Amino acid sequence: MADEKIKLPIRSALIPNFYQSFHCLMGACQDNCCDDGWKIKFNKKDYLCIKRAAEKDSELHNLAFQGMRRLKEQANNTMYAEFCLTDEGRCAFHTKDGLCRLQQICGENTLPRVCRIYPRLFGYTPAAKEYCLSPSCEGVLQQLWDLPDGIEFVEEPLPQAEQREICISKGENLLHCFAPIRALCVDILQNRSMPLSRRMLYLGIVLQRLQNADWADFDPDEWADRQRSEVTSVPMNDEIPGNRDMYLMQNIKILDRISRESAWTSDIYSALKVQRKITLTVNKNNGLDPVRIDTIGYSKAVYEDTLTEFQAAFSTHEYFFENLMVAAALFIDFPNPSSRETLWKSYVSLCSLYSFYCFVSVLGCKEAATKERLFHYIVKASRATLHNQNRLNGFQDELFQHDSSTLAHMAILLRWD
Ligand code: SF4
Repeated sequence: MADEKIKLPIRSALIPNFYQSFHCLMGACQDNCCDDGWKIKFNKKDYLCIKRAAEKDSELHNLAFQGMRRLKEQANNTMYAEFCLTDEGRCAFHTKDGLCRLQQICGENTLPRVCRIYPRLFGYTPAAKEYCLSPSCEGVLQQLWDLPDGIEFVEEPLPQAEQREICISKGENLLHCFAPIRALCVDILQNRSMPLSRRMLYLGIVLQRLQNADWADFDPDEWADRQRSEVTSVPMNDEIPGNRDMYLMQNIKILDRISRESAWTSDIYSALKVQRKITLTVNKNNGLDPVRIDTIGYSKAVYEDTLTEFQAAFSTHEYFFENLMVAAALFIDFPNPSSRETLWKSYVSLCSLYSFYCFVSVLGCKEAATKERLFHYIVKASRATLHNQNRLNGFQDELFQHDSSTLAHMAILLRWD
């Protein structure tokens, strides 16, 4: 029955090796999370904790008066107040040398939960209590950069107090097989016998096979072993159909969706020489109302030239993009085998994200192919996508609406190089 539940005991923690060694870059961070216009909201307990701490120090008292306000509407009853931002989008407690005045005076425990935790994320999946870090933080990207041998995982028993039971529906889903399916997905992303774009494509081939498998009689271990042994059947890069125009247009559309609130996107438009033209033509139906036609122009040649320089500069760093995609997959709980549809949608999201990362990385490095610029654009792209679930869903919904979510279309998004 669809509404019957299965209880899955969660007894272990899964921790990627870059999680524990994370440290904030503080003043050395070029895109400090406290200065990026993020609205930091917190609950009443955090609010009162800051208020009481501020009463003991006159400087903090003034800062708290200017830098914190109660929310008029406490929409979901958990968020009570927020930090006010300066016109430049800076948190009022953030000092010019990149440190938090609240933390300096009162210690880390006075910070709201979100400030104490970011960029860490942990939660329960049907496999384990899982930990990961957000690629929207420069310190995290540095960790990924420092792992040329790839991300490894440590599995540890959970203390009794943290053990849980996850309830999943008995209806048609493979949530109870999440652990072996996800392990296979990570193995594919880390299979260095082929370029990363091909691995991403192979992932799609495998998930398409999974979509078409008999879920009522499914042996995940036997199935995963078979997929691992069939890697040789993946098409070579030059056999994958490419379409540079479709790749560029799809990513310009994503950029358009986020450009209103993200000033950095103008660098990418300008690197690609994006130009927009609006033409009004006579309506053939009634000969009266003009019809508006929007056209977008860009320089494909600029992309190709920039790509050549980008590839030369980062030819030995494909592992970094591998680590980035593994971290992103962990962050979005990829894949989602709640249904056949969500399984494919989660793959479409991951492909769109990979394609967009490549697009902004290449064009963001047009002026100079440096690690700093690469990190800057990946941080910005991650903040605009990974931290906006509605927007991430919007990308895949748009592809689904236009029948552009097929594996063949994903292959086009993956052919960035
Ligand atoms: S983005 Fe990351 S490294 Fe930079 S200040 Fe924030 S937590 Fe620290």
